[in-house]
Amino acid sequence: ISASEHMAPQRICVCVRKRPLNKQEINKKEIDVVSVPGKGTLLVHEPKQKVDLTKYLENQIFHFDYSFDESATNDLVYKFTAKPLVQSIFEGAMATCFAYGQTGSGKTHTMGGDFSGRQQNSAKGIYAFAAQDVFANLNHRKYSHLDLCAYVSFFEIYNGKVYDLLNKKAKLRVLEDERQQVQVVGLEEVYVSSAEEVIKMIQMGSSCRTSGQTSANANSSRSHAILQIALRRNDRASTLHGKFSLVDLAGNERGTDVSSNDRSTLVETAEINRSLLALKECIRSLGMNSDHIPFRMSTLTKVLRDSFIGEKSRTCMIAMVSPGMASCEYTMNTLRYADRVKEL
Ligand code: ADP
Ligand code: MG
Repeated sequence: ISASEHMAPQRICVCVRKRPLNKQEINKKEIDVVSVPGKGTLLVHEPKQKVDLTKYLENQIFHFDYSFDESATNDLVYKFTAKPLVQSIFEGAMATCFAYGQTGSGKTHTMGGDFSGRQQNSAKGIYAFAAQDVFANLNHRKYSHLDLCAYVSFFEIYNGKVYDLLNKKAKLRVLEDERQQVQVVGLEEVYVSSAEEVIKMIQMGSSCRTSGQTSANANSSRSHAILQIALRRNDRASTLHGKFSLVDLAGNERGTDVSSNDRSTLVETAEINRSLLALKECIRSLGMNSDHIPFRMSTLTKVLRDSFIGEKSRTCMIAMVSPGMASCEYTMNTLRYADRVKEL
């Protein structure tokens, strides 16, 4: 389980997680076309048709750093993905963890867990596990000499605009100075002293996220939600020591749904596609150690600029897939994207 702690620190980790078929899918007798045969491998049994119209399944095989099947818990996924990144911010890194995938594939489930009640262990997501480990480390003698404090910000990017989820969804400006430093002007950064406080902030912030008009999932699927945990030194300038950004990305489905083909949906879709393309390019340039990072391509990559530069930047992407045959095209799109992000 702790394998990742002993491995050479990899700058980019790309994983895939398959969720179980849900009740509706089971009722519709939906066929499960995704299987996870072993560590890192994932198979899609893609429905195809021959010229004589006979149908068959074609196996598409993908390899990632880790692949999680429907029996994996959030706790397990956390251990292999975000946990090493929490460690890295104490070493001074800028770390980022992305949940990527189609609406309904499990991004929010993985990141946030279930907020319907008090979060028991089984309902926790990566946010809660990461927050717990941040405070465990802050209280550990190994790091006490650094004299660090934790701060949280939580914001949303919708149609290229930034909204502060910890400050009544105030619309904020993104500015870049002459040293290419990017700043979200006026972003609330709240001092936190326990994991429970972090969870409370997220719970509060999540309740006011933007909901779009998409039929699949009206709630928040069209915006990126970014939670940042910053470690600052307890000095006069509150010097930044490390930062962890946890990103619940907007649904990556293409705007092919004719029923919602109105203008604002098309604009939303174009903006989401643009930001996901920019993200892919930025992670790839991090993987290639390239000097040119095309972070200006989108608001998402602009606000995450620091995550794509520097020796100590580390990224983990968790690609979420739905298992049903009806989602197969989206699943293939998600896997192809994740495949492109992998370190070369
Ligand atoms: P997304 O954020 O990608 O749109 P959600 O996280 O909201 O998707 O997941 C859609 C539904 O599927 C939710 O009801 C969620 O609880 C459920 N779900 C997602 N992943 C899992 C999983 N691994 N195990 C059980 N239920 C899941
Ligand atoms: Mg979601």
